Amino acid sequence: MTRTGNDSWDLASSVGATATLVAAARAMASGDPDGLIDDPYAAPLVRAVGIDFFTRMLDGELDLTAFPDATPERAQAMIDSIAARTKFFDDYFAASSAAGVRQVVILASGLDSRAYRLDWPDHTVVYELDQPDVIAFKSRTLAELGAQPAAVRRPIGIDLREDWPAALRAAGFDPGTPTAWVAEGLLIYLPPEAQDGLLDQVTALSAPGSTLATEYVPGIMDFDAEAARERSARMRERGLDLDMSGLVYAGPRSHVMDYLSESGWRVTGSPRSELFQRYGLHMPDNMEPGPLGEIVYVSAARPPARAHSPR
Ligand code: SAM
Repeated sequence: MTRTGNDSWDLASSVGATATLVAAARAMASGDPDGLIDDPYAAPLVRAVGIDFFTRMLDGELDLTAFPDATPERAQAMIDSIAARTKFFDDYFAASSAAGVRQVVILASGLDSRAYRLDWPDHTVVYELDQPDVIAFKSRTLAELGAQPAAVRRPIGIDLREDWPAALRAAGFDPGTPTAWVAEGLLIYLPPEAQDGLLDQVTALSAPGSTLATEYVPGIMDFDAEAARERSARMRERGLDLDMSGLVYAGPRSHVMDYLSESGWRVTGSPRSELFQRYGLHMPDNMEPGPLGEIVYVSAARPPARAHSPR
């Protein structure tokens, strides 16, 4: 599959299937009382999408160790990676809520159910943006499940390469109010110039006191498409048709952390290995980082406006 500038998808196809993939991993990581995360909506959402491979995975019918290069330890570490990532963004929102931020924007929300499952303070408004079919499917499926948002949820079906700031403002977003932004698992699916454009738009809409959490994936610059294609072919034999090499935009692009720093954000980054340590997870010595390599979890803050000091 080749990407085009205006391609679109649902949760069973193209980039949309990657949202179902990470939700399936969240479902596998959930349900353990001692686990790091609990996303009770992940499994029913994945089942509703209906990709047979993921349904069988949730039903315990797939031997994960039969996957290319997988050992039980490695299969667990791949699920732990998504648990750690989920926890990182959950903790980020807990901190923004504690800091008094009540306006939240989740860019590329996929099957993220944070608007339903996190403990939002009263009057928090959560905007969720993703492709129209993705947003419509999740809203409909969660309503059918009887799930109630835990905040004021404002879903916006739009392509993030289009004028999403206009749609966000039309839905009630106030650029004069501090915002907590998340772009989780998004940037590598945007062309390099669209990544810069999206970060510029976030900056332009961020009042002092706003924050952003996202990822930096350095390996996208020298992504080995051939190795990824071979890996996908082996996965296809096992029933999963998802070729990352046709979905991501490899090659040169801005360094996310540097770009944000130069745009006036205070930026910190935590590599995945650091998150594993922070959350008490085990990273096997021989853990191949996967086709995308290292992932750095990024948090950024727009310094609050300085109070005018009397002369
Ligand atoms: N953030 C979610 C999570 O972590 O569960 C979903 C991550 S999934 C890997 C990538 C998401 O990015 C998909 O939901 C996809 O629809 C969305 N996405 C990628 N490019 C997009 C675009 N141009 N417009 C809207 N959504 C996009």
